[in-house]
Amino acid sequence: MLLGYNEVVVEDSARIEKALAELIGADSILGGEAVRRVYSSDAYTVERSAPVVVVLPRSTEEVSLVVKWCFENEIPITPRGAGTGLSGGAMPALGGVVISTKKLTSILSYSIDEEWLHAQSGIANLKLSKAVQPFGYHFAPDPSSQSVSTLGGNIAMNSGGPHTLKYGVTAQHVLGVKMVSARGEVVQLGGPCGGDEDLLSLVVGSEGTVGIVTEAWVKLTKNPQEVATATLCFRSAVEASKCVGAIVRSGVTPAALEMMDANVLSAVKAGFDLEYPVGTAAMLLVETDGVSGVALRELEDLIQIGRDEGATEVQVAGDEQARAKLWTARKKGVGALGRLAPTVVTHDGVIPPSRLPEMLETVYQVAEEEGIGVANIFHAGDGNLHPIFYFDERQEGKVDAVIRAGEKIIEKCLELGGSVTGEHGIGIEKADLLRSMFDPVSLGIHGRMREVFEAGEGCNPCKIIPDAKGCIEHKMRWRGAAT
Ligand SMILES: Cc1cc2nc3c(=O)[nH]c(=O)nc-3n(C[C@H](O)[C@H](O)[C@H](O)COP(=O)(O)OP(=O)(O)OC[C@H]3O[C@@H](n4cnc5c(N)ncnc54)[C@H](O)[C@@H]3O)c2cc1C
Repeated sequence: MLLGYNEVVVEDSARIEKALAELIGADSILGGEAVRRVYSSDAYTVERSAPVVVVLPRSTEEVSLVVKWCFENEIPITPRGAGTGLSGGAMPALGGVVISTKKLTSILSYSIDEEWLHAQSGIANLKLSKAVQPFGYHFAPDPSSQSVSTLGGNIAMNSGGPHTLKYGVTAQHVLGVKMVSARGEVVQLGGPCGGDEDLLSLVVGSEGTVGIVTEAWVKLTKNPQEVATATLCFRSAVEASKCVGAIVRSGVTPAALEMMDANVLSAVKAGFDLEYPVGTAAMLLVETDGVSGVALRELEDLIQIGRDEGATEVQVAGDEQARAKLWTARKKGVGALGRLAPTVVTHDGVIPPSRLPEMLETVYQVAEEEGIGVANIFHAGDGNLHPIFYFDERQEGKVDAVIRAGEKIIEKCLELGGSVTGEHGIGIEKADLLRSMFDPVSLGIHGRMREVFEAGEGCNPCKIIPDAKGCIEHKMRWRGAAT
């Protein structure tokens, strides 16, 4: 049976804090105005809704106690990792209790011989790779947020990253999960040897709507013997994006193929003292990897394609330090945009890479129409677009302009045969847009997926599926609540 949840108001906080403190200890409960403000959004900051209480359990058992109590008391719950999500997934849409995985950060075991690792879900992605680096292994999914975003968040969002072009997204690297169902029961799907693939595929990418992942078994990937990296500068973004299509069709799959436009480069230049040739409108970062000798040869082939497509300057990394320098614009680009305006919203869509030139023209045109700044930094090789809008949210009408611009861009993505999201998920931001992509019957099937897990409506309510019960009347209040 599906439960109807009422919004839990701040006045309930003392009662809820006390009850949860009795279950898992007062030192694992956070409350008060500042906490409510901090946890009212993720990195998609233009829609906000504050929780009543935030809890930080230390184990699967503690998560289970909290969820069971919330379920019995009809209090909505919202799972949260590091809060780097870009579609409002960790925003507690109906208030209630945020369950943070901040204290679930242990690596529990690993086997290098069998190439798997078992960890708690709150551990930062990069720590997995650091732990097995001495054995010549890493965890392949590498979202650009990997130094902070959590394993649980990556699983919930089925995250991608620069190297997923060659190695696949998170789903291809998860062997099993332990999770707490929306009713508080502990469930295990798969394990070190895999298994339960069908059910696992429903959990990966479910954005916290079917339960809370507390532990996971992931595949380890052997480090390549050789990595070769280059940047290629172009006089126009359209030229650079045509080169992306040519590389994708070349028969060589790069390990990474990223693009940054002039607005990103100028922000990075100011922040990190880097220089790019005058007149550069876009830069590609191309990386190949593999066995010794092959990666460098493949990179040379791709560079030749770049020159044929009009690259004006090519830089090849001679050593690890130079390689890190070439990656600076990509790794620091989003943060550097804070120099351009007080608010940034990173949008996300996907299209076939061959349609990039047309798509980018639309992106610039839409931003101009709406009177907002836009910078592009994205995983170009898999057509994964990230227009980043920069603006001042305190100026009247700007938040609405940004939301309108996002909708126009998604409309174009769909027209070109793409999808509403490449990797940042649906969350709150894209829920309404799903109607443009799916017919009512398909959407109904997606909506009923929660029933397989008996998740009800209290587990991350109002996310993914448009017009979920009890959510419609809250929509306008979330929007622009940041101002
Ligand atoms: C600078 C920057 C760069 C980024 N680059 C990329 C990129 O390259 N590729 C990419 O895919 N994304 C990227 N992202 C988006 C974001 O980092 C990913 O979606 C990431 O996986 C979110 O992890 P998190 O721990 O921050 O999760 P949160 O933001 O805390 O949560 C995200 C969603 O997962 C749910 N959730 C969190 N933990 C759990 C759990 N244990 N069990 C069940 N549900 C859970 C939440 O309810 C929410 O719906 C980027 C974000 C930023 C700010």
